[in-house]
Amino acid sequence: MTKPNNQPSYFDVTIVGGGMVGMAAALALSKFDLNICLLEFIEPSENSHPSYDDRTLVVNRASIQFWKNLNIWNQLSDDITPIDKVHVSNKGHFGTVKFDKDSLNVDALAYIVEAKKLGFALKNKIKNTDNIQMICPAQVTDFKLENQQVSIDYSLDGVKYQQICRLMLAADGAQSSIRKTLDLETQIKSYDRTAIICNITPEFKHQYCAYERLTKTGPTAMLPFVQNRCGFVWTVQKDQTDELLVLNDSEFLRQAQSQFGYRLGKFVKVGKRSSYPLYLVTVPKQVKNRTILLGNAAHSMSPVSAQGLNLAVRDVAMLSDVIENALHNHIDIGSDKILNNYQKNTESDQSQTMKYTDDLMNWFKIDEPLVSSIRSFGLLALDQSLQAKKALFGRASGYRGHSPKLLRVK
Ligand SMILES: Cc1cc2nc3c(=O)[nH]c(=O)nc-3n(C[C@H](O)[C@H](O)[C@H](O)COP(=O)(O)OP(=O)(O)OC[C@H]3O[C@@H](n4cnc5c(N)ncnc54)[C@H](O)[C@@H]3O)c2cc1C
Repeated sequence: MTKPNNQPSYFDVTIVGGGMVGMAAALALSKFDLNICLLEFIEPSENSHPSYDDRTLVVNRASIQFWKNLNIWNQLSDDITPIDKVHVSNKGHFGTVKFDKDSLNVDALAYIVEAKKLGFALKNKIKNTDNIQMICPAQVTDFKLENQQVSIDYSLDGVKYQQICRLMLAADGAQSSIRKTLDLETQIKSYDRTAIICNITPEFKHQYCAYERLTKTGPTAMLPFVQNRCGFVWTVQKDQTDELLVLNDSEFLRQAQSQFGYRLGKFVKVGKRSSYPLYLVTVPKQVKNRTILLGNAAHSMSPVSAQGLNLAVRDVAMLSDVIENALHNHIDIGSDKILNNYQKNTESDQSQTMKYTDDLMNWFKIDEPLVSSIRSFGLLALDQSLQAKKALFGRASGYRGHSPKLLRVK
């Protein structure tokens, strides 16, 4: 990581937050003639960083293309697991839907990658990219709009520094201090649910099938991963969380098994468990004062729908097109016109994705017999219609309407 000198320095774009989204944005914009700075607070150690831990991420087809276009996907080839089939069922009721790669005529429905592997591949690529300067561990403490520029204060090893940029990208996470300082309206909806996440090794081979089980506390997923491990995502009521987290391994496995069933045989082994409270954070206006919010700072949703990073990647791809257009037409990249273009072009995708996640959380938590029957019949009907499956799969792939360049096959 580069250490700055004491003078204020000047950048075209400064990105606050070097999580997966901040790094993706830096790399996406690095193909332009721009001087980019990435300020990240937490220095990753050899094995860990809270923004890219050992969670398993479902990477949809649009995101795969994005990572391919940034030359990241080829770095991950040993660490990705294809999803060949998806099996959706309704716990305690009839009705299943099955998707498979052959009937949808694709090489895989999606892939799974460990966040840690993706994060480190991004970091390595940034190290070798000349027009990105990553400063870490740098904590942004303040910023202000001054003379058509953003002046940013940050501290590093107890020393205060300042830099100036034309455009600031705030990828500083769900608790974004930049969003708060800009006083952008933020709507937070809590589901009163928690996702417990861990790796589980089942008795039988997963055969690259992802399972989604709809239960009265919310969706539960079992995602195929390396060495026959599966990423288990279990939605539980908030007040159950602590008691489940402290169970010994065998009792936890017993309870997880009763939730998931025996499709993969007996659950044999469980890894470290972590929990995430489930909420939906919506920020209607994501641009102000030469600043654009990205990633969790702009929208944060339940991991159950596996959409957060996939959506953020599409936003970054759109940002790249908007910036390219600005540079081509000699328009100031931090101007209101460009900021508003970005907001307008990402609004519809964001609201559809947030709605999908919200519906998933609300619809399946209702456990009235009538609703359950409708759900079961709905699953049965869906399973009979290849056309409906293709439409659903198309949306889940992340391709909707006009695709920005970074999502297209070159
Ligand atoms: C368990 C789980 C499973 C998930 N599964 C999926 C999935 O399958 N598919 C999918 O698409 N998405 C998934 N997601 C969502 C995905 O992980 C997030 O959307 C993504 O990680 C958000 O990244 P980010 O960079 O926006 O935020 P963060 O990862 O929170 O990064 C923000 C960064 O900003 C830094 N920072 C904050 N403040 C400052 C400051 N003042 N100065 C400098 N730096 C600062 C922080 O140190 C941090 O590194 C999952 C999420 C969870 C929790």
